[in-house]
Amino acid sequence: MQPVSEAQAVKRYVCPACGLDVAPGVAHLVVWRADGVLGDAADLSARRHWHQHCWRIGTR
Ligand SMILES: [Zn+2]
Repeated sequence: MQPVSEAQAVKRYVCPACGLDVAPGVAHLVVWRADGVLGDAADLSARRHWHQHCWRIGTR
């Protein structure tokens, strides 16, 4: 899991937790599987962009 700052957020994503857009310019979190079973490329394609509040709620 890695934070993405407002300046780094240049694309629109869909948050997997709430199904709503993560708009460009909104700080959020990038989450991906780190077990590496399918290799680095697969891990990168499996990244998901979460709202910060959704990640906090989902991992509490
Ligand atoms: Zn969300």
